[in-house]
Amino acid sequence: MYDYLIVGAGLYGAVFAQQKTEQGKKCLVIDRRDHIAGNIYSEQIEGIEVHKYGPHIFHTDKENVWEYVNRFAKFNHFTYCPVADYRGELYNLPFNMNTFTKMWPDVKTPADAEKKLAEQRAEFAEIEPKNLEEQALKLVGRDIYEKLIKGYTEKQWGRPCNELPSFIIKRLPVRMTFDNNYFNHPHQGIPIGGYTAMVEKMLIGTEVRLDEDYLSNRESYDALADKVIYTGQIDEYYGYQFGELQYRSLRFETEVLDVGNYQGVAGMNYTDSDTPFTRIVEHKHFEFGNRNPDKTVITREYSQTWSKGMDAYYPVNDAENAALYEKYKELSDKESKVRFGGRLGTYRYMDMDQVINEALMDAGA
Ligand SMILES: Cc1cc2nc3c(=O)[nH]c(=O)nc-3n(C[C@H](O)[C@H](O)[C@H](O)COP(=O)(O)OP(=O)(O)OC[C@H]3O[C@@H](n4cnc5c(N)ncnc54)[C@H](O)[C@@H]3O)c2cc1C
Repeated sequence: MYDYLIVGAGLYGAVFAQQKTEQGKKCLVIDRRDHIAGNIYSEQIEGIEVHKYGPHIFHTDKENVWEYVNRFAKFNHFTYCPVADYRGELYNLPFNMNTFTKMWPDVKTPADAEKKLAEQRAEFAEIEPKNLEEQALKLVGRDIYEKLIKGYTEKQWGRPCNELPSFIIKRLPVRMTFDNNYFNHPHQGIPIGGYTAMVEKMLIGTEVRLDEDYLSNRESYDALADKVIYTGQIDEYYGYQFGELQYRSLRFETEVLDVGNYQGVAGMNYTDSDTPFTRIVEHKHFEFGNRNPDKTVITREYSQTWSKGMDAYYPVNDAENAALYEKYKELSDKESKVRFGGRLGTYRYMDMDQVINEALMDAGA
């Protein structure tokens, strides 16, 4: 008999299991996939660590989380500085002085950029935004919206910006420095040796079974343990009895190329609406001093509407889905044996550091 059956060998499940095992509890972790690490899984292709379910950059401002992950991996000093390709014009992201000086060649100083942005916003100053398009225009004006926001956002959500709710974009930070670092947190990097190796280390001493789907045999799995921690989709757990929660899904097209350096950066966003993918990730740039000079691995990322059988990636955070989630949550609050955790169990987008922090708290650390 186990103290805990943990459904899902992703980050939440692995951290929870690690903590409970360290506390002397007997844990069994199962996953329906054939590998551990959930969506942060990475694997070697041509000597390059490939992020199979989308690029993952670890960043945090939580000292306890940073200390915790450093028990299981050393981190390199990678900082995420993506570039946007708009019909062949390249711009640095997030919006900063590099972006502004490229977009408006007469802009040289922060004061010039402030003035230009004020001019760009002026046209929309009186608007009370009714949709995402109006909200973005009001925040940054037409040039940035049309070249860097519109096409990308429409591909991501599969709907025109003027049909998307304005709350998706609450703020659009603009940086008046020449700083391309996407994240503001004091700690950032990629685990040397890959995310899978990090999770493997967390799971040392815990029994793990792969290719096992909890929902295929719920009763016999429940009989194995006193408590169940469930990190899969909450709506699926309840047989979609109130209906399906909506998600955005992703399709990845990965290719090995016979060139040493394809795009010179880890992430290139395609911000026009004609290019069908949202970005190309070139994995070797997450590492430093990669030894393979002749080959590279790239992944084109396509956004798509989720339907049953696909991997669920991003919850759709609108009022309708929030209300539906509340119905499932009400059921889950009544459970005495099962507890829901992680991004799918709680229907929230969470960065890795948030997932780790919650798993540490839930495990009583
Ligand atoms: C494209 C993308 C990019 C991201 N980039 C970043 C980033 O740069 N930085 C960052 O901090 N965060 C990033 N994230 C967020 C990060 O992926 C999550 O925080 C993290 O993976 C969540 O871990 P989890 O354990 O909650 O979920 P998961 O990793 O999804 O783990 C859940 C596991 O449960 C298993 N499972 C589900 N149902 C069952 C069942 N019935 N039986 C058995 N097993 C089951 C699944 O197979 C899965 O392995 C990104 C997310 C996406 C979608």
